[in-house]
Amino acid sequence: MVRGKGGAAELGTICEGSLGEHGFIPVSLLEGGHTMYCPKCGSENTEQALFCAKCGASLKAASKPSRVLFGERAQIPPEIRGWNWGAFFLGWIWGVSHRVWVSLLQFIPIPLVGIIMAFVLGVKGNEWAWDSRKWDNVGHFKKTQRNWAYAGFAAAGV
Ligand SMILES: [Zn+2]
Repeated sequence: MVRGKGGAAELGTICEGSLGEHGFIPVSLLEGGHTMYCPKCGSENTEQALFCAKCGASLKAASKPSRVLFGERAQIPPEIRGWNWGAFFLGWIWGVSHRVWVSLLQFIPIPLVGIIMAFVLGVKGNEWAWDSRKWDNVGHFKKTQRNWAYAGFAAAGV
């Protein structure tokens, strides 16, 4: 009777020890890897959940490292700096396509505003376009801007 009890206890100890020590089961599973905590309200959700069951906050966005995202946005490659002829000639048309909404200021019916905005877009266009749209790489960006420049020259009749 005593021997049997001891045997069972010993078996349990061995099992517990072998799980932890030899890592047969990933530690994340043992420590609740199936759950994640809502960054907004702190309630527990399943790992697969896209939204918090309690408050509805997006859980996928929270799991993304936002630090990297901001780093990308803040970093403007030196190669893309420079005058943007497409933005200069095509103004708001270029602006809408590149989500550079400030270009819509060209609609303000004040003399010179349109011309001033054209120059501002020419100078800042590349930076703004790089920030506001997703580009595969610098080459993709430059190629696209070159096409816009050609279109701009064509539209201006240069
Ligand atoms: Zn929540």
